[in-house]
Amino acid sequence: MARKLQPGERLVLASHNPGKLREIEALLRPHGIDVVSAGALGLPEPVEDAPDFAGNARIKALAAAAATNLPALSDDSGFCVAALDGAPGVLSARWAGPSKDFSQAMALVHERIGANPDRRAWFVAALCLAWPDGHTETFLGRVDGTVVWPPRGEKGFGYDPMFLPAGGTITFGEMDPDEKHAISHRARAFAQVLAACFG
Ligand code: IMP
Repeated sequence: MARKLQPGERLVLASHNPGKLREIEALLRPHGIDVVSAGALGLPEPVEDAPDFAGNARIKALAAAAATNLPALSDDSGFCVAALDGAPGVLSARWAGPSKDFSQAMALVHERIGANPDRRAWFVAALCLAWPDGHTETFLGRVDGTVVWPPRGEKGFGYDPMFLPAGGTITFGEMDPDEKHAISHRARAFAQVLAACFG
């Protein structure tokens, strides 16, 4: 049985990524949740050494819930490319290097795909809710599409400019936030969080 969150309840967002924080805050605001970020509380970033998105999401949410004694929500997400056997995957952030340069990460993806005609790609998001007593609930969302080159658009973050969702004509980088939120991996995982916690 999923645990419920009450309007006015405080929730820690266990993420230091400003792009993800912006998106998740926008998704939670209508539900009256008092969102505070791990960065604002000065929480350290735990080592994400699980082999999959769900495992890393649990590590982050459990660490934030234990450190604050509040329920915590984490997001572990990434960009997966079929021609690269799912890479960069859980290493999506690391492909951008210490300077978090996603132009460089996108160029690396493009270079590694080379002449491979398989352009399929997808984003995955694992959202984990953790409570201070160690209870966790994890939700997965995915959006499929293709890789485009050169990158297009400056509205998103990370790998958005090189991702064309299936059936679409513009990249995630060219979409207004509302348009991306309607179909993104994070929004799909989030819809399950809402159904479980506010339904
Ligand atoms: P982590 O979940 O903090 O390990 O980082 C995931 C990385 O995946 C981010 O730094 C982004 O590069 C990438 N990523 C995740 N979600 C998105 C998205 O919606 N658009 C573009 N890139 C994303």
